[in-house]
Amino acid sequence: MIEIKNIHKSFSKNEVLKGVDLVIPEGNAIAVLGPNGSGKTTLIKSILGMVLPNQGEIFLNTRNIKKGWEYRKQIDYLPQIANFPNNLKVFELIKMIKDIRGGDIANENKYIDLFSLHPFLNKKLGNLSGGTKQKVNLVLAFMFDSPIIILDEPTSGLDPVSLLVLKDIILEQKVKGKTLLISSHIMSFVEAVCDKVMFIWEGKIYFNGTIADLKNETNEDDFEHAIAHLLKNAHA
Ligand code: ADP
Repeated sequence: MIEIKNIHKSFSKNEVLKGVDLVIPEGNAIAVLGPNGSGKTTLIKSILGMVLPNQGEIFLNTRNIKKGWEYRKQIDYLPQIANFPNNLKVFELIKMIKDIRGGDIANENKYIDLFSLHPFLNKKLGNLSGGTKQKVNLVLAFMFDSPIIILDEPTSGLDPVSLLVLKDIILEQKVKGKTLLISSHIMSFVEAVCDKVMFIWEGKIYFNGTIADLKNETNEDDFEHAIAHLLKNAHA
């Protein structure tokens, strides 16, 4: 379980998070939604310890994350923008990440197969298309089989077949009882894979509940319209 208590984060005068409280129970798949620049990545990076909040606490299984970095071993993370070294080959990158992660067992071959990446293993990352780089990013995110998975814009650049593969992988993780936090602008994807959504607006959590709750609250049958309704209300 991840507990976020009263997180505030400013970048100089830009107050991005203004008191975020959130509980992410084990085994839930939660979508982090909100307009561009609303603080989704800042919140995700706060959980990972990559951004230090100005105020507030984050607990992973009741332990304050400030107490040590080891908790990160329980988390697999897909960054929104993966700045891979251009001169490295795909197989070299995978090996490097395995070396850095130390003793953890990786099942990279399963994901290399699923995303049909074999023809690219010997290619330099700088020569890959955006979509292929994203597939490599996804292999790195899933291969350690950790109990918590945080995916920042996982659908970015993926073709329809890879999108289906990704959906199946996420559904499989859910069956395994993993906890997932996913940011995405693709509402059909969110609806297919997430149980709950939270919507960040003006630095706070504006909505937190199931997709059915959101549809009820906004009186909209369709998820995309329900989100649009939420945005319109937030702007009013
Ligand atoms: P989202 O993921 O919702 O698009 P972000 O969390 O990336 O939003 O950004 C929220 C705000 O914080 C934006 O205004 C962004 O410019 C600012 N921001 C994010 N990271 C930094 C940083 N390292 N330094 C300064 N400003 C930042």
